Amino acid sequence: MRVLITGGAGYIGSHVAKHFRNKDYDVIVVDNLATGNHWSTKWGEFIKGDVRDADLMHSVMSKDVDLVVHLAAVADVSAAERDPDRCFSVNIEGTKTVLSAMRSHGIGQILFSSTCAVYQSQALPMSERCNISPAGVYAESKLQAEKEIIREAEQGGIDCTIFRFFNVSGADKDCEIGEVHDPETHLIPIVLECAHGIRERVQIYGQDYPTPDGTAIRDYVHVEDIAAAHLLAAASREANRVRTFNLGTGSGYSVKEIIDVARRVTGLPIPVALTPRRAGDQARLTADSALAQKELGWSTAASDLPNIIDSSWKWLSHYRSTEDVPKSRTA
Ligand code: UDP
Repeated sequence: MRVLITGGAGYIGSHVAKHFRNKDYDVIVVDNLATGNHWSTKWGEFIKGDVRDADLMHSVMSKDVDLVVHLAAVADVSAAERDPDRCFSVNIEGTKTVLSAMRSHGIGQILFSSTCAVYQSQALPMSERCNISPAGVYAESKLQAEKEIIREAEQGGIDCTIFRFFNVSGADKDCEIGEVHDPETHLIPIVLECAHGIRERVQIYGQDYPTPDGTAIRDYVHVEDIAAAHLLAAASREANRVRTFNLGTGSGYSVKEIIDVARRVTGLPIPVALTPRRAGDQARLTADSALAQKELGWSTAASDLPNIIDSSWKWLSHYRSTEDVPKSRTA
């Protein structure tokens, strides 16, 4: 079986690529390296290019591809707000180009990465049936891309699986790949950069949320469990099926709880600064992933919070000791 992974040089894509390769799939990665890293394309063939390049997509898909994992996207929420045109172009037009090339080459299965940010719900944990109301440009672009894929599935007889990720975190257990963004905006890597001494303090965005300690609650799911969900979906295909699954643990942790667990795991102080809420943040997001568990046999075996933080800590320590990266940042 041959899998094409768009965005396979990114944080999530590289873990997905490794998991498919370890299960003996032939892997082809296409990534424009706008945010991905060449050093994380260790599994399979790497082709540098953009998903909006129709000629490239046609030439890649002519290589007997059986399945497409479409992860390439503008995934930085702030970057999407700053440049909505680029976000819509990559996330929606890019998806249409991928679908058109799949159609031309008779490729019958796509797995697509979407986001829990498409939901606005008071009822927690959130199931796939919750209110859809994307809060910003990024979420809107993902929702539109979902619709393109579903339309294609209904018309063209492809099998599509849409994953709505909650807070993907953690790193590869062998420490070969992990989370690196520039700039880093995600809580767990920022917290660990403070423990490492390369960032002065964590800004806690908002202390007046309606939660037990006043800080916002998220559902952190290990990237290895996310990669495992892709393998399960690839192995359970059925023509003409449209499946949508939330991927999270059902448990939520506040910003303060994350910092406390990180202090315990690292044994190091993590200074904090209290700052106002970040625009667009919701108070609580947790997933009901019962459907993925039932239909895919998915489990969140790696997603215990200390394990997530420990794997991220090992990765950060390894990465910072081997890569030529800035050694100091201020909060
Ligand atoms: N957060 C924070 N300080 C930071 C980064 C994030 O307090 O430096 C909070 C953020 O407001 C949210 C949670 O941590 O409530 C998770 O944020 P992240 O950016 O990791 O993921 P998001 O849930 O926004 O996708």
